[in-house]
Amino acid sequence: MNIHEYQSKQVLKSFGVNVPNGIPAFTVEEAVEAAKKLDSKVTVVKAQIHAGGRGKAGGVKIAKSLDEVKEYATELLGKVLVTHQTGPEGKKVGRLLIEEGSNIAKEYYLSFVNDRNTAKIVMIGSEEGGMEIEKVAAENPEKIIKEYIDISVGLLPFQATRMAYKMNFKPEVIRKATATMMKLYEAFIGKDCSQVEINPLVVTAEDDVICLDAKLNFDDSGLFRHPDIVELRDKTEEDPKELWAAEEGLNYVNLGGDVACMVNGAGLAMATVDILKYYGGNPANFLDVGGSSTPEKIATAFEIMLDGGQAKGIFVNIFGGINRCDVIAEGIQKAAQIIAEKTGSDGIPVPVVVRLEGTKVEEGRKILTDNPVKNVIMAPTMEGGAEKIVALVKEAEKNA
Ligand code: GDP
Ligand code: MN
Repeated sequence: MNIHEYQSKQVLKSFGVNVPNGIPAFTVEEAVEAAKKLDSKVTVVKAQIHAGGRGKAGGVKIAKSLDEVKEYATELLGKVLVTHQTGPEGKKVGRLLIEEGSNIAKEYYLSFVNDRNTAKIVMIGSEEGGMEIEKVAAENPEKIIKEYIDISVGLLPFQATRMAYKMNFKPEVIRKATATMMKLYEAFIGKDCSQVEINPLVVTAEDDVICLDAKLNFDDSGLFRHPDIVELRDKTEEDPKELWAAEEGLNYVNLGGDVACMVNGAGLAMATVDILKYYGGNPANFLDVGGSSTPEKIATAFEIMLDGGQAKGIFVNIFGGINRCDVIAEGIQKAAQIIAEKTGSDGIPVPVVVRLEGTKVEEGRKILTDNPVKNVIMAPTMEGGAEKIVALVKEAEKNA
């Protein structure tokens, strides 16, 4: 789960991390009120969206008066910001962070993420922080410093010190920098984060070390331990199909393509996405219907996949274990019925290729051959099924 910058900063502050004073604002009036309260010579007006790259896209403004705060707030609120992380459709700004300005002397980069290769947490630092960090990583990888942290002992002070020296902090701020690293690590562990990224971490002209930007990501599996974090969820930032699926207890990730798939088991679902891609298809989603499907749940999955006209074809790839093929077959019938009723049509509007194997497979196939559902074709193998659905979608596109 992602949260906004201003929320990330509140969380970090509770761990004693140094962040600028700031107040969130949802309207222009609130923005001006916030600036008045902060009473700072320079006020920063920052668009709050779940994506980085705002600086370059004009989402971070430096205001020198209340009039300017008003001007920038008016400009940013409701604006669709397109950054290199939002995709071409951009993200609409619904909130601002009004913050006191900082007297930046130098910008650094600091982050913590899980490293799957070493099964450790890696702290990543660079003296080349700011808006060009991706370029630094690509062109000057030696400027990216890594420190691997064993989770059973935590971040050790000598590691933080080593990082601070390698990042070339000047002697006056080394202790402040290491203290910041230790606290950020505490926050990472304490809140079950999957990422803590500070870019930029700045040293000010007054030799303060401040987190000027903050991006926290949380491990969804740990959220049950953090109701305070769950409360920070901003549903307007999340994919509507993924939210809908989550409410229905379906494990769904929107991949943006047009060949949808419905699979049981995460491993098989990933393999299915891969094989669709292998045959030249553009997967619409990852969907694991899980082990306890009902016909109703299957029908909902179909509705989600078809919503907005995204799916131009659906591949149902089921290996029945706990899930039974006859339940899946009934689900497909039910889906056709529900979609027919809701849209006043004669059923599922796109080709559906079904590959069933495993528990109650004969019964499942019988259900679909005895009472054929419009547009539904049976496939004996996973390879053949994937190839078939990709071909059908391509053909439909050609004819469209
Ligand atoms: P991002 O582009 O989405 O990562 O947004 P950031 O919060 O990192 O802001 C982008 C840039 O704006 C930073 O690298 C800073 O150079 C600048 N910036 C952000 N806050 C302040 C501030 O308080 N004062 C000044 N002078 N610049 C700031
Ligand atoms: Mn940033």
